[in-house]
Amino acid sequence: MARANVCLTVDFDAVSSWIHSFDEADSARNLSRGLFGVDVGAPRLLEIFDDHDITTTWFVPGHTVESFPDAVEAVWADGTGHDIQHHGWSHTRPSTYADKPSERADIERGIEAIQGLTGRQPVGYRSPSWDFSSNTLSLLEEFGFEWDSSQMATEFHPYFLRQGWEAPVDAPYERGDKTEIAEVPVSWQRDDFPAFAFSRQRGYANERAIFEMWESQFDWMYRNVENGTYVLTMHPQIMGYSHRISHLESLIATLESYPDVEFTTVDAVASEL
Ligand SMILES: [Zn+2]
Repeated sequence: MARANVCLTVDFDAVSSWIHSFDEADSARNLSRGLFGVDVGAPRLLEIFDDHDITTTWFVPGHTVESFPDAVEAVWADGTGHDIQHHGWSHTRPSTYADKPSERADIERGIEAIQGLTGRQPVGYRSPSWDFSSNTLSLLEEFGFEWDSSQMATEFHPYFLRQGWEAPVDAPYERGDKTEIAEVPVSWQRDDFPAFAFSRQRGYANERAIFEMWESQFDWMYRNVENGTYVLTMHPQIMGYSHRISHLESLIATLESYPDVEFTTVDAVASEL
Protein backbone atom coordinates (compact mmCIF):
# COMPACT_ATOMS: atom_id res chain seq x y z
CA MET A 1 0.00 0.00 0.00
CA ALA A 2 1.46 3.33 -1.05
CA ARG A 3 1.88 6.31 1.22
CA ALA A 4 -0.53 8.23 -1.03
CA ASN A 5 -2.78 7.46 -4.00
CA VAL A 6 -3.46 9.80 -6.88
CA CYS A 7 -6.55 9.26 -9.04
CA LEU A 8 -6.53 11.43 -12.12
CA THR A 9 -10.09 11.33 -13.45
CA VAL A 10 -11.40 12.55 -16.78
CA ASP A 11 -15.06 13.35 -17.41
CA PHE A 12 -15.31 12.88 -21.16
CA ASP A 13 -18.58 14.76 -21.65
CA ALA A 14 -17.79 15.93 -25.19
CA VAL A 15 -21.02 17.56 -26.50
CA SER A 16 -23.41 15.64 -24.21
CA SER A 17 -23.26 18.05 -21.30
CA TRP A 18 -24.03 21.02 -23.55
CA ILE A 19 -27.07 19.20 -24.97
CA HIS A 20 -28.42 17.65 -21.79
CA SER A 21 -27.24 19.60 -18.76
CA PHE A 22 -26.97 23.22 -19.79
CA ASP A 23 -30.08 23.70 -21.95
CA GLU A 24 -27.98 25.07 -24.78
CA ALA A 25 -28.43 22.33 -27.36
CA ASP A 26 -28.85 24.88 -30.11
CA SER A 27 -25.53 26.57 -29.49
CA ALA A 28 -23.07 25.65 -32.20
CA ARG A 29 -20.45 27.56 -30.26
CA ASN A 30 -20.85 25.44 -27.14
CA LEU A 31 -21.08 22.20 -29.11
CA SER A 32 -17.77 23.13 -30.69
CA ARG A 33 -16.24 23.33 -27.22
CA GLY A 34 -17.21 19.69 -26.79
CA LEU A 35 -15.67 18.85 -30.17
CA PHE A 36 -12.45 20.50 -29.00
CA GLY A 37 -12.43 18.01 -26.15
CA VAL A 38 -12.81 15.11 -28.57
CA ASP A 39 -10.38 16.18 -31.27
CA VAL A 40 -7.77 18.18 -29.34
CA GLY A 41 -8.09 17.85 -25.58
CA ALA A 42 -8.40 14.09 -25.16
CA PRO A 43 -5.41 13.24 -27.39
CA ARG A 44 -3.29 15.77 -25.49
CA LEU A 45 -4.27 14.27 -22.15
CA LEU A 46 -3.58 10.74 -23.38
CA GLU A 47 -0.15 11.81 -24.59
CA ILE A 48 0.78 13.22 -21.19
CA PHE A 49 -0.54 10.15 -19.37
CA ASP A 50 1.48 7.98 -21.77
CA ASP A 51 4.63 10.03 -21.25
CA HIS A 52 4.32 9.55 -17.50
CA ASP A 53 3.05 5.97 -17.75
CA ILE A 54 0.01 6.88 -15.63
CA THR A 55 -3.20 4.87 -15.40
CA THR A 56 -6.31 7.07 -15.10
CA THR A 57 -10.10 6.73 -14.87
CA TRP A 58 -12.37 8.09 -17.60
CA PHE A 59 -16.08 8.63 -16.95
CA VAL A 60 -17.71 8.51 -20.36
CA PRO A 61 -21.38 9.17 -21.15
CA GLY A 62 -22.92 6.64 -23.53
CA HIS A 63 -23.64 9.59 -25.80
CA THR A 64 -19.89 10.19 -26.16
CA VAL A 65 -19.22 6.47 -26.75
CA GLU A 66 -21.76 6.36 -29.58
CA SER A 67 -21.01 9.77 -31.10
CA PHE A 68 -17.22 9.55 -31.07
CA PRO A 69 -16.31 5.86 -31.00
CA ASP A 70 -12.80 6.35 -32.33
CA ALA A 71 -11.93 8.87 -29.61
CA VAL A 72 -13.23 6.62 -26.84
CA GLU A 73 -11.59 3.57 -28.38
CA ALA A 74 -8.30 5.49 -28.24
CA VAL A 75 -8.74 5.81 -24.48
CA TRP A 76 -9.62 2.16 -24.03
CA ALA A 77 -6.90 0.88 -26.34
CA ASP A 78 -4.22 3.10 -24.88
CA GLY A 79 -1.26 1.13 -23.64
CA THR A 80 -1.42 2.36 -20.05
CA GLY A 81 -4.73 0.57 -19.38
CA HIS A 82 -7.05 3.45 -18.55
CA ASP A 83 -10.30 2.48 -16.90
CA ILE A 84 -13.67 3.53 -18.38
CA GLN A 85 -16.71 3.85 -16.09
CA HIS A 86 -20.30 5.11 -16.18
CA HIS A 87 -21.30 8.78 -16.49
CA GLY A 88 -24.92 8.43 -17.63
CA TRP A 89 -25.91 7.92 -21.25
CA SER A 90 -27.22 11.40 -21.92
CA HIS A 91 -25.44 13.40 -19.18
CA THR A 92 -28.81 14.41 -17.76
CA ARG A 93 -28.69 15.80 -14.23
CA PRO A 94 -30.38 13.05 -12.18
CA SER A 95 -32.53 15.48 -10.21
CA THR A 96 -34.21 16.60 -13.45
CA TYR A 97 -35.63 13.20 -14.44
CA ALA A 98 -39.41 13.14 -14.46
CA ASP A 99 -39.52 9.74 -12.76
CA LYS A 100 -37.53 6.67 -11.77
CA PRO A 101 -38.15 4.70 -14.99
CA SER A 102 -36.64 7.55 -17.04
CA GLU A 103 -33.50 7.58 -14.92
CA ARG A 104 -33.30 3.79 -14.98
CA ALA A 105 -33.54 3.72 -18.77
CA ASP A 106 -30.70 6.23 -19.13
CA ILE A 107 -28.44 4.31 -16.73
CA GLU A 108 -29.21 1.06 -18.53
CA ARG A 109 -28.46 2.59 -21.92
CA GLY A 110 -25.17 3.92 -20.57
CA ILE A 111 -24.23 0.45 -19.31
CA GLU A 112 -24.94 -1.03 -22.72
CA ALA A 113 -22.79 1.58 -24.44
CA ILE A 114 -19.81 0.88 -22.20
CA GLN A 115 -20.32 -2.87 -22.47
CA GLY A 116 -20.25 -2.52 -26.23
CA LEU A 117 -16.88 -0.82 -26.00
CA THR A 118 -15.15 -2.66 -23.19
CA GLY A 119 -16.91 -6.01 -23.13
CA ARG A 120 -17.60 -5.73 -19.42
CA GLN A 121 -20.20 -4.13 -17.19
CA PRO A 122 -19.13 -0.90 -15.49
CA VAL A 123 -19.00 -1.10 -11.68
CA GLY A 124 -18.30 2.58 -11.05
CA TYR A 125 -20.57 5.58 -11.51
CA ARG A 126 -20.01 9.31 -11.59
CA SER A 127 -23.20 11.30 -11.66
CA PRO A 128 -23.56 13.97 -14.34
CA SER A 129 -23.19 17.26 -12.46
CA TRP A 130 -22.28 15.27 -9.32
CA ASP A 131 -25.76 15.04 -7.93
CA PHE A 132 -28.21 12.26 -7.14
CA SER A 133 -31.96 12.15 -7.48
CA SER A 134 -33.87 10.48 -4.67
CA ASN A 135 -33.77 7.30 -6.82
CA THR A 136 -30.13 7.25 -7.95
CA LEU A 137 -28.64 5.25 -5.11
CA SER A 138 -31.26 2.49 -5.27
CA LEU A 139 -30.80 2.31 -9.05
CA LEU A 140 -27.04 1.90 -8.61
CA GLU A 141 -27.75 -1.00 -6.24
CA GLU A 142 -30.25 -2.46 -8.70
CA PHE A 143 -27.65 -2.51 -11.48
CA GLY A 144 -24.90 -3.89 -9.28
CA PHE A 145 -22.63 -0.85 -9.13
CA GLU A 146 -19.92 -1.15 -6.50
CA TRP A 147 -18.86 2.45 -6.15
CA ASP A 148 -19.60 6.07 -6.96
CA SER A 149 -17.42 9.14 -7.29
CA SER A 150 -19.67 12.23 -7.09
CA GLN A 151 -20.14 13.04 -3.41
CA MET A 152 -18.09 15.02 -0.92
CA ALA A 153 -18.52 13.91 2.70
CA THR A 154 -14.76 13.31 3.15
CA GLU A 155 -11.74 14.73 1.38
CA PHE A 156 -9.13 11.98 1.05
CA HIS A 157 -10.75 8.70 2.15
CA PRO A 158 -13.45 6.54 0.60
CA TYR A 159 -16.54 5.80 2.66
CA PHE A 160 -19.87 3.99 2.29
CA LEU A 161 -22.85 5.94 0.97
CA ARG A 162 -26.02 6.05 3.03
CA GLN A 163 -29.61 5.88 1.90
CA GLY A 164 -32.81 6.85 3.64
CA TRP A 165 -31.32 10.10 4.90
CA GLU A 166 -33.69 12.90 5.74
CA ALA A 167 -33.09 16.62 5.66
CA PRO A 168 -36.25 18.29 6.98
CA VAL A 169 -36.22 22.05 7.36
CA ASP A 170 -37.77 21.89 10.81
CA ALA A 171 -36.10 18.86 12.41
CA PRO A 172 -32.58 17.44 12.82
CA TYR A 173 -30.77 15.79 9.94
CA GLU A 174 -30.94 11.97 9.79
CA ARG A 175 -27.90 10.32 8.23
CA GLY A 176 -29.71 7.15 7.08
CA ASP A 177 -28.28 3.64 6.78
CA LYS A 178 -25.02 2.51 5.23
CA THR A 179 -25.18 0.85 1.84
CA GLU A 180 -22.48 -1.35 0.34
CA ILE A 181 -21.70 1.24 -2.33
CA ALA A 182 -18.33 2.88 -1.76
CA GLU A 183 -17.85 6.58 -2.37
CA VAL A 184 -14.49 7.87 -3.59
CA PRO A 185 -15.06 11.55 -2.93
CA VAL A 186 -14.65 14.41 -5.36
CA SER A 187 -14.34 18.12 -4.63
CA TRP A 188 -15.31 21.28 -6.47
CA GLN A 189 -11.88 22.46 -5.30
CA ARG A 190 -10.15 19.88 -7.47
CA ASP A 191 -12.24 20.15 -10.63
CA ASP A 192 -11.12 22.15 -13.65
CA PHE A 193 -14.66 23.06 -14.75
CA PRO A 194 -15.72 25.47 -11.98
CA ALA A 195 -12.35 27.18 -12.03
CA PHE A 196 -11.69 27.48 -15.75
CA ALA A 197 -14.80 26.94 -17.87
CA PHE A 198 -15.92 30.22 -19.27
CA SER A 199 -19.51 31.22 -18.79
CA ARG A 200 -21.08 34.62 -18.39
CA GLN A 201 -20.36 34.53 -14.68
CA ARG A 202 -16.96 32.90 -14.36
CA GLY A 203 -13.98 31.39 -16.08
CA TYR A 204 -11.05 33.79 -15.73
CA ALA A 205 -9.42 32.34 -12.63
CA ASN A 206 -5.74 32.93 -12.01
CA GLU A 207 -4.64 29.66 -13.56
CA ARG A 208 -1.29 29.46 -11.81
CA ALA A 209 -3.01 29.96 -8.45
CA ILE A 210 -5.39 27.07 -9.12
CA PHE A 211 -2.57 24.67 -9.95
CA GLU A 212 -0.67 25.88 -6.87
CA MET A 213 -3.78 25.16 -4.79
CA TRP A 214 -3.96 21.64 -6.21
CA GLU A 215 -0.29 21.11 -5.40
CA SER A 216 -0.69 22.40 -1.83
CA GLN A 217 -3.74 20.18 -1.27
CA PHE A 218 -1.67 17.16 -2.23
CA ASP A 219 1.24 18.26 -0.07
CA TRP A 220 -1.05 18.62 2.97
CA MET A 221 -2.57 15.21 2.37
CA TYR A 222 0.84 13.61 1.97
CA ARG A 223 2.14 15.06 5.21
CA ASN A 224 -0.98 14.60 7.36
CA VAL A 225 -3.07 11.71 6.06
CA GLU A 226 -2.33 7.99 6.17
CA ASN A 227 -3.00 6.24 2.87
CA GLY A 228 -4.97 9.17 1.48
CA THR A 229 -6.41 9.33 -2.02
CA TYR A 230 -6.16 12.52 -4.02
CA VAL A 231 -8.83 12.75 -6.74
CA LEU A 232 -8.43 15.38 -9.45
CA THR A 233 -11.23 15.85 -11.99
CA MET A 234 -10.63 17.25 -15.44
CA HIS A 235 -12.48 17.62 -18.72
CA PRO A 236 -10.68 17.32 -22.08
CA GLN A 237 -12.49 20.41 -23.35
CA ILE A 238 -11.16 22.42 -20.39
CA MET A 239 -7.81 20.93 -19.39
CA GLY A 240 -6.82 20.27 -23.00
CA TYR A 241 -5.87 23.87 -23.72
CA SER A 242 -2.20 24.53 -24.37
CA HIS A 243 -1.37 26.54 -21.28
CA ARG A 244 -3.21 24.18 -18.91
CA ILE A 245 -1.60 21.08 -20.38
CA SER A 246 1.76 22.59 -19.45
CA HIS A 247 0.58 23.27 -15.90
CA LEU A 248 -0.88 19.77 -15.64
CA GLU A 249 2.38 18.19 -16.71
CA SER A 250 4.24 20.20 -14.06
CA LEU A 251 1.71 19.14 -11.42
CA ILE A 252 2.08 15.48 -12.36
CA ALA A 253 5.86 15.76 -12.21
CA THR A 254 5.66 17.37 -8.76
CA LEU A 255 3.35 14.66 -7.42
CA GLU A 256 5.64 12.00 -8.87
CA SER A 257 8.59 13.52 -7.03
CA TYR A 258 7.13 12.51 -3.64
CA PRO A 259 8.30 9.08 -2.42
CA ASP A 260 5.85 6.19 -2.42
CA VAL A 261 3.02 7.76 -4.42
CA GLU A 262 0.88 5.53 -6.61
CA PHE A 263 -1.13 6.78 -9.58
CA THR A 264 -4.06 4.40 -9.68
CA THR A 265 -7.69 3.97 -10.72
CA VAL A 266 -10.75 4.90 -8.70
CA ASP A 267 -11.84 1.28 -8.99
CA ALA A 268 -8.65 0.11 -7.27
CA VAL A 269 -9.16 2.59 -4.41
CA ALA A 270 -12.84 1.69 -3.99
CA SER A 271 -12.08 -2.01 -3.85
CA GLU A 272 -9.80 -1.46 -0.84
CA LEU A 273 -12.60 -0.04 1.33
ZN1 LIG B 1 -19.77 15.27 -16.92
